Amino acid sequence: MGRVYLTGAGPGDIELLTIKALRVIREADVIIYDRLANPDILSEAKDGCEFVYVGKEDSRHTLPQEEINETIYRAALKYEKVVRLKGGDPLVFGRGGEEALYLKKRGVKFEFIPGVTSAIAVPEYAGIPVTHRGITVSFRVVTGHEAAKEKSQIPWENYKTDDTIIFLMGLHRLSFIVEKLIEIGKPKDFPIAVISRGTWRDEKTVTGTLEDIYEKAKDLPTPALIVVGEVVKLHEELSWFER
Ligand code: SAH
Repeated sequence: MGRVYLTGAGPGDIELLTIKALRVIREADVIIYDRLANPDILSEAKDGCEFVYVGKEDSRHTLPQEEINETIYRAALKYEKVVRLKGGDPLVFGRGGEEALYLKKRGVKFEFIPGVTSAIAVPEYAGIPVTHRGITVSFRVVTGHEAAKEKSQIPWENYKTDDTIIFLMGLHRLSFIVEKLIEIGKPKDFPIAVISRGTWRDEKTVTGTLEDIYEKAKDLPTPALIVVGEVVKLHEELSWFER
């Protein structure tokens, strides 16, 4: 029985891969990868390594999670080193925990290899620090997908604080999200940014206010994330990657 490495690929820029991730990728007999992981990473694999694409697009899964779990499990029966490669960090809205539980139940050994999460690195490439002295002392990372559900689990009332809020999987729920933030009392001119394809060559940041961001950003290509908070104002001065 093989061992499974639940591995973070980082947000896009291949150089944000960790040394540990790179090592297991080079040693892997099979790599099971997502849409969000930079496919250039696969060129680091050894000759004969098998590649299995189980691409997911935000909430639209090309393979149901149960099938992905089973694919990983079967790979572990066949191969010694199985790399399950995921965008960003495997445990930040990555379902890495579910995959690990499935493997554990079946007696398959696994390891987590953390990755650079888009939640922090993408704002950083856009020159937006998620915390900044004198502006905010904390940040939250939330799924925008959950935000728009009929019975949303998001305790919106708690979002009245000065925390920087980072919404992943939220672009297609942008109009709902800004509506909600205004409803709980955030001013209409409160700063917000949408960052599209962060850390990739074609990264694009659009900044605005809760009132105008939807019209400005709704057609940006995915993946994209949303940052809400006063820290967004630093983009103008600290933007470095898109220049
Ligand atoms: N495990 C991943 C997140 C998975 S959820 C991580 O730690 O980064 C997928 C969401 O992440 C996307 O809908 C998008 O909101 C965000 N995302 C991932 N990569 C991104 C990128 N390069 N630029 C902007 N957003 C990104």
